Amino acid sequence: MTPDSEATSSPVNKLVVRNIGLLLSGDLDHPILDADTIVAINGVIQSVGKEKDIDTTNATTTIDAKGTALAPGLIDSHVHPVCGDWTPRQNQLGWIDSCLHGGVTTMVSAGEVHTPGRPKDIVGLKAMAVTAQRAFHAFRPGGVKVYAGAPVLEQGMVEDDFKELAAAGVKFLGEVGLGSGTPHGRMGPQVRDSKHDSHWRPIDPGVESDRQRHGA
Ligand SMILES: [Zn+2]
Repeated sequence: MTPDSEATSSPVNKLVVRNIGLLLSGDLDHPILDADTIVAINGVIQSVGKEKDIDTTNATTTIDAKGTALAPGLIDSHVHPVCGDWTPRQNQLGWIDSCLHGGVTTMVSAGEVHTPGRPKDIVGLKAMAVTAQRAFHAFRPGGVKVYAGAPVLEQGMVEDDFKELAAAGVKFLGEVGLGSGTPHGRMGPQVRDSKHDSHWRPIDPGVESDRQRHGA
């Protein structure tokens, strides 16, 4: 990577992480980087490489990794959030924040299914999906990004419902099998082809519902 050149202007925030023992890229084709130092300016990584090749001067914060590993944040692709960092199922507060301590920085909701009194009528479930999408977009518990607003499919939903949801910004579907929309495996080929009927997401509902209609 190229050394940064911030010699003339002093950045608002310059973070240097040095003495990294193992630096993982997150790229499966090139998982390990030949580097021991990263520099981030105002929260954005600017340089990755060997310390001798990088401008680490004028750092606001310097962290000595002491030979430990540094990796991109983990993604938990199946969580059941309800409202912010609270879920009533286990009467649990702060569980998302706790996951952050384990390295999880992003989560994908499998549906806000444990919402007390979860509406199962179509108007209600659409409203809840939009609300959840908005709420988790605006609020990141502990800083964790939660992709939520994943309606559980109920019988009676039609193409226009999925179009309406997609237009409102709802891009996920909830865990298949938890609503009435999946009787006797009639959800169509996209579900039958998946490894687990109950782990189907994420998709664009506006597209998949059409496949669902023709595959059912
Ligand atoms: Zn689940």
